[in-house]
Order: sequence, then structure tokens, then C-alpha cells
Amino acid sequence: PRTSNESHHKLNGKPLIDNHIGNTFSRKQKIAQHRKSLPIASVEKRLVDEVRNNDTLIVVGETGSGKTTQLPQFLFNSGFCRDGKIIGITQPRRVAAVTVAKRVAEECGVELGQRVGYSIRFEDRTCSSTRIKYMTDGLLLREALVDPYLSRYSVIIVDEAHERTVHTDVLLGLLKKVQKARSKSFSVCLGVETKKPNNATLLNKDNDVFLKQCQGRKFPPLKLIIMSASLDARGFSEYFGGGRAVHVQGRQFPVDIFYTHHAEPDYLDAALITILQVHLEEGPGDILVFLTGQEEIESVERLIKERLQLLPEGSRKLLTVPIFSALPSEKQMRVFTPAPAGFRKVILATNIAETSVTIPGIKFVIDPGFVKARSYDPVKGMESLIIVPTSKAQALQRSGRAGREGPGKCFRLYPESEFEKLEDSTKPEIKRCNLSNVILQLKALGFDDILGFDFMEKPSRASIVKSLEQLFLLGALTDECKLSDPVGRQMAQLPLDPVYSRALILASQFNCLEEMLITVAMLSVESIFYAPREKLEEARTAMKCFSSPEGDHVTLVNVYRASNELLEKRVMGLTKEKNEKILSKWCKENFVNSRSLRHARDVHSQIRGNVEQMGLRVASCGDDMLQFRRCLAASFFLNAALKQPEGTYRALASGQVVQVHPSSVLFRSKPECIVFNELVQTNHKYVRNITRIDYLWLSELAPQYYCAQN
Ligand code: ADP
Ligand code: MG
Repeated sequence: PRTSNESHHKLNGKPLIDNHIGNTFSRKQKIAQHRKSLPIASVEKRLVDEVRNNDTLIVVGETGSGKTTQLPQFLFNSGFCRDGKIIGITQPRRVAAVTVAKRVAEECGVELGQRVGYSIRFEDRTCSSTRIKYMTDGLLLREALVDPYLSRYSVIIVDEAHERTVHTDVLLGLLKKVQKARSKSFSVCLGVETKKPNNATLLNKDNDVFLKQCQGRKFPPLKLIIMSASLDARGFSEYFGGGRAVHVQGRQFPVDIFYTHHAEPDYLDAALITILQVHLEEGPGDILVFLTGQEEIESVERLIKERLQLLPEGSRKLLTVPIFSALPSEKQMRVFTPAPAGFRKVILATNIAETSVTIPGIKFVIDPGFVKARSYDPVKGMESLIIVPTSKAQALQRSGRAGREGPGKCFRLYPESEFEKLEDSTKPEIKRCNLSNVILQLKALGFDDILGFDFMEKPSRASIVKSLEQLFLLGALTDECKLSDPVGRQMAQLPLDPVYSRALILASQFNCLEEMLITVAMLSVESIFYAPREKLEEARTAMKCFSSPEGDHVTLVNVYRASNELLEKRVMGLTKEKNEKILSKWCKENFVNSRSLRHARDVHSQIRGNVEQMGLRVASCGDDMLQFRRCLAASFFLNAALKQPEGTYRALASGQVVQVHPSSVLFRSKPECIVFNELVQTNHKYVRNITRIDYLWLSELAPQYYCAQN
């Protein structure tokens, strides 16, 4: 696209010391030097004192100033891990937890998983000697189920709080309670209880099982640190009753912003052209491109490689490096490795690179201006993923990435007039997602009054009620809206969406838990199949070997079983690497996304472990797919749809008119009645991951919903 030069925000910055470090220094020395050069290094003592003096502290600082990697180390070195206590740092994203933990382990000169580790869903790299633990916000919420007072932690840092993910918001509410409970228990054990007359009222007012349980138990107080990249700390400070806020100065060099003259009809194409334009016309420096997800990243990655082949030999020195959450963790670190001499690196990232992960060497940012976000309609009870324009705050964060080490350029692939129309900031996720998952967890923690829970920003009453209703229909709640036993309790234990947890529990009764485990694992990763534009026919033919007239779920089971057979045949006597190679080759031949399949295999082994631990019976239905489909109908009845005369479908629960997504194996056959897992909104409402069912099964298998309705 053509771009116009209208530069704004000229910010002054000082040159970085680490730019001048020669190659003669050892990596260790370089790291020490880099740490010293970070803006946060000069305020170490002040920060540690602030943490000592305040139970709750809000730390605000520009991205890249060293908050995430340095503050936990400062606290460790100042004795906050005495008595074997842990410093926990939560991240909204898996990738950030993993890459930062690896970096900090290296900075500390320790092996990852020892003193410094991470824990994310389906992957735990910690041990009993771990003292600095990075994790996702969702994972800490889960830990609270087994350790409600988070008693192993002396400090909890909620990082990237400005992201306001639903887990962060719920966690803040929980941590506020935990902190209160722990300071109360501490005063009990110090014997000052009687001197605090308001304690009784405190308990009565809260009327919480949670606080009451704590009476008479002894916990040391909990330090809470809320970290954010956005300058507005007021919201957090008010929520924590006037919590103290400190600002860490950052550095920023000027970034020239370029806009396109016209709106771009295809932003991926525009991104591709801009990448090549920058590569061919601009001086040295790496490129960072913001895309919305794995699929987009992988397709741009392929397109770049193809285009490079058309360029003269000397112009092909461009190295593409993807980063997104489902990327295996050993591959994620590649973004930090400098490109070989003479090469330019182009990093294709999701909004993970906005504030969570700071990648050195970026001089050019390409921002198409979109992000994938959750959206929830509480009336219809439907959640969907949609691609929406970024907010102004996100656009500014993205362009800022180009000016960390020197002046940079940012290419926004939309006209300047569009920028003015963007929202100032993103709406907290809690306002636009299905809440059944977090409500189930809060119930399991003993918070029964969800409407009365102290949220930083209250979700709408309608969406709380709708989510409670869904949990009730899934059998997780009793008539009195209490957690049911054993179903609700078991569902809360599984690290999955309640619908999937319920599906696993049902599958053990339908004797098809083996198949359901595969299905849930395959559904937790981004698309298993890929179809490059130029090989569309070949890909379709390959997919036919797996595709089942019963639908996408059985098709996914077929792919997984085929990969199992392949590995079972070969595995004997072969090294792990050799097996990986065989699997990759097989994936390529069959147009299966090997990254996704590998991830699904990991997820499978984890949740298999979970259900076995819970004592569920893992049996296979073999080829009896009728049994399996009946189980799918019993599990996903809230997402059933009936065909309409014109070939579209009407979702029974919401009344919405939807279409079968072209990627579904049922796209052409269009059976009378289906259940589906996902609603995708582009210009149409599409449903994905579909199975053919019999309409009559619904009233038989989900009478709690379908009999009451008719
Ligand atoms: P903040 O949390 O304030 O945004 P971080 O602590 O994440 O800052 O990053 C501080 C610095 O550490 C940045 O300059 C970043 O580039 C660098 N850094 C972080 N992780 C890595 C890594 N894995 N490899 C190299 N540098 C890293
Ligand atoms: Mg950070």
C-alpha cells in the first residue's frame, strides 16, 4: 500500500548502553550489563522499600522497562522468599509466562524449573525449590481451588493488569479477599484479635464461607503487587482502597507513523506487500507484524517464503519468525535470537508482542489494526470470537515497539481518519465473555453470592444470570444454585470450559471417554487442517481420507487415531527426534498442521491424567460412532441447530440463523439436525465443529432443557 508520512509523537530518548556492547563480552557479562541498563534498575531500592511498607502496591511502567523480569528478582534478593515462600507472577498469556521464566532463569544463572520456573495449563515447569514462579492468571485461580489462601505465596504480582482479562479481574477480587483473610488470621495468631472491634462486623458483612473458614488458622500476610503498562493507575488504586501507586520511567525514541491513503480491502495482502517493501527499501532493523491468530500467521509465513523465491538471490535474506500461544515453547524463544549476519528478521506475532513480551531489535512495526476478541451475547447465551479493530491504546502500544532502541517507523494499514474513530481503550473482557467458567470456580471456592461478589467492574446482571442458568442445565448447580456433588465439583476440577468438562463426565457413562478426550484435545487447538491456496485440491483430497459423514468430531478422532497408529508402528527402538520427524512428514503429506496436532497430543495426555485421577472410567467405543454421537448430543445440546428450508440452520437455544462453515465436512451434505461447538462471525454467522444428530435424541438426552421447552 502507498503510505503517507505524517509523523506524530516525537518522544525524546537517550541511547541505550547495550547498543554499544561489543561481541567480545561473554553472554553472562552482556546480560548483567543489560540488566543494569534497564530503567527499573535505578529504582530497585525504592521499589523494595515500597513493597515492604505497603501491603498492596500498584506499579506502572512503560513496556520494556524491566518490570516483569526484574522486580521478582529484586524481591527474591531482598528476602521475600524466606521460609520457603514463593513469589508468584501472573500473566494473561501463556507465551509471556514461558519466555519470561526462561529469560529470568538465565539471568539468575539457574536451570529453568529449579529456582525459577513457570506453570501454565497443561505444562508445569516448577519443583519444590521453585521460588520465582511465572504462571497464567487462570492457573493461579485454579490453584486457589486446592489452596484457597494461596498459603505458599508471600508475594503475588498480577502482571499486565491493564489487559483486564476475565481471569485477571476475578483474580483481583479473590486476592483482595485472600489478603484480608490472611491479615486477619495473622492478627488472630498475634493475639490482637480482641483489640479490633470491627472484625465481627467484617465477617458478618461478608457473610462468606471463605473468610469464616480462615478463623483460627495461621498464615503470614500476603503482599500484592499490581503491574500495568497503562498510565492510568487510578482504577486499580481505588479498587484497593487507595492502594499506593509508583511509576517507573521508561525510554522511548521517536516513531514515525505512516497511514495508508485508502482502506485496504485485504489486510493480509497489504501486510505482505508492506513487509517486502520495508525489506527492500529500508535500512537495517527487524520488522514486527501484528496479526490476529495462528492461522493468519501461518498463511503470511507461507506467502513470504513464496514471494522471496521470486526475488533475486541477494534480496532473499529475510527470516520469518512466528510467535503465538499454541507454538511449542521451545520454538517461542526463537524470536529473541538475533538474525544471522546480513539477514533481517520479520516477527509475525499476535497481540502477545504488544506489551507482554518485549523483543529486542525491532525498528519497524506493521499494524493492520485488528485483534481477535471474545464477544458474548447474554440474551442468546452465545460467545464467539470476532476480529475487531484495535483500540487507540493498543495502536499506540504497538507503534511504541518500534522505538525501544532507536528511532523507528510504524506502518498502520488503515487511513488516519480511521484511527480517530477507534475506541480509546478496550472494554474489559469480563463485560464481553461467557462467565460460566469463572462462576463455577468461584462457587467451588465457596463464593455463593456471585451477584454480590466484589468485582472491579461488575459484569452485567444478565450475563451472570445466563451463565448460572447454563451451569444449572449442565448439571453443575443444584436447584438452590449451589455447586452439585459430584458433577459440579468434578467439573470445577477439570481445567476446561464447563461444557467440555461435562462432556468428559458424560462420556465415561456412554463408554466413549477415549474418543471424547481426543475430541476435547483436538478442539482446544487452532485448526488441525490447513489448505494453502495453491494446493487447495490436493488438500481436499487428503482430508477425504479422514473425513466422516458423521461430522467433524468423528473426523478429528480419525486424524488422531491415524497419527497414533503411525507412531505405534514406528515407535519401537526409535529416538524421540526420529518419531517427531516421522510425524512431521506424515502431517505434511496429509495437510495436517503438525504444530496443532502435537499440541493436541500434549493436551490429551494431560487431561487423560486428570480424568484418571478423578476416577472416571476411560473406555473406547471402538467403531460404534452412534454411541459417541449420542454422547456429543447429550453434551452440546445447548448448541443444537435445525436445518431450514433454504439450507441455513436455526440454533434452537438462541433462535439465531447460522450457516455451516465451509471448512466443515458437513458443508455439502447439510443434515437435518446438528450440534456444534463454535460460532464464528465474519460477514456471516458460521458454526464450526459440527456433528450430525437425530432431533429426537435431544428430548431423550437433555430433558432438563428440551422437555421444559416444548
Ligand atoms: P516490562 O515487563 O517492563 O515490559 P520486561 O521485564 O519484560 O519489561 O523486559 C525487560 C527487558 O528484557 C527488555 O529489554 C526485553 O527485551 C528483555 N528481555 C525479556 N525477555 C527476554 C529474552 N527472552 N531474551 C532477551 N531479552 C529479553
Ligand atoms: Mg512485562
